[in-house]
Amino acid sequence: MSEQKQVLGVHEAASSHWVGDGFPVRTLFPSNGVTELSPFLLLDYAGPARFEPSIRPRGVDEHPHRGFETVTISYQGSVDHRDSGGNSGTIEPGDVQWMTAASGVVHEEKHGKDFTARGGDFEMVQLWVNLPAADKMSKPGYQGILSADIPRVELGTGAYARVIAGELNGVKGPAKTFTPVNVFDLRLEPGGTGQISLPAGHNSAIVLLRGEVVVNGSSMLKGTAQVALLSTSGETVLLDAKAQSLVLILSGEPINEPVASYGPFVMNTQAELRQAAEDYQAGKMGRV
Ligand code: MN
Repeated sequence: MSEQKQVLGVHEAASSHWVGDGFPVRTLFPSNGVTELSPFLLLDYAGPARFEPSIRPRGVDEHPHRGFETVTISYQGSVDHRDSGGNSGTIEPGDVQWMTAASGVVHEEKHGKDFTARGGDFEMVQLWVNLPAADKMSKPGYQGILSADIPRVELGTGAYARVIAGELNGVKGPAKTFTPVNVFDLRLEPGGTGQISLPAGHNSAIVLLRGEVVVNGSSMLKGTAQVALLSTSGETVLLDAKAQSLVLILSGEPINEPVASYGPFVMNTQAELRQAAEDYQAGKMGRV
């Protein structure tokens, strides 16, 4: 029998803030005691929030990123994206956008046109995944992953996982990653249980977006926007849902390199951050 990963602590998201005028987010990390989860840099949980119909799409106007990847998962509502690489698309519920900013992308993120016109419930996650130093200045990339292309693994009665990246029970996710990363989107019904295998040596976290789950029979996550950090040792984690729950499981091989970050840039040194700001101001990351 394989060893369980230990729950190191349960943390709540910090207070909420707005990103642009479209994303009322709570930051699960970096925040309250969760500062080191390499290769994951940041996790924002937007909503759930209700938006009234509008004529003008709400969201974030054009802004740059360099040195990492942004992963956007839609649960409810949609996001229109346009970037300096000429990529554009609408992220609908169940879809995932995996954007590799690498040497530099300028993009805008707005509510989808139909969603803007109709209004409704909005719920989304954005995860930032670091790149190793050797790949920070590589060519930007874009993976628009449709819901239909994300395989589902049944975990037991009333529980399944969508494998976005990495591998679960021999089923591989569609996202191409630079370092070993698992991103699983779990949906659990009340009474649903699932045992998840995660590699020893990975940093990993169980993120409860909403609902109520017991981790390894002892640690309770309840309500919204909570995260349980797990030990790198051990290879399994057990979830028991007490209510209908939406859970995100993250694990990844740590990138053991210095992190220097400033706003939308994540590099290895302060000099590289200054260079990023200069390059953006000089228009070297392009325009939307
Ligand atoms: Mn962005």
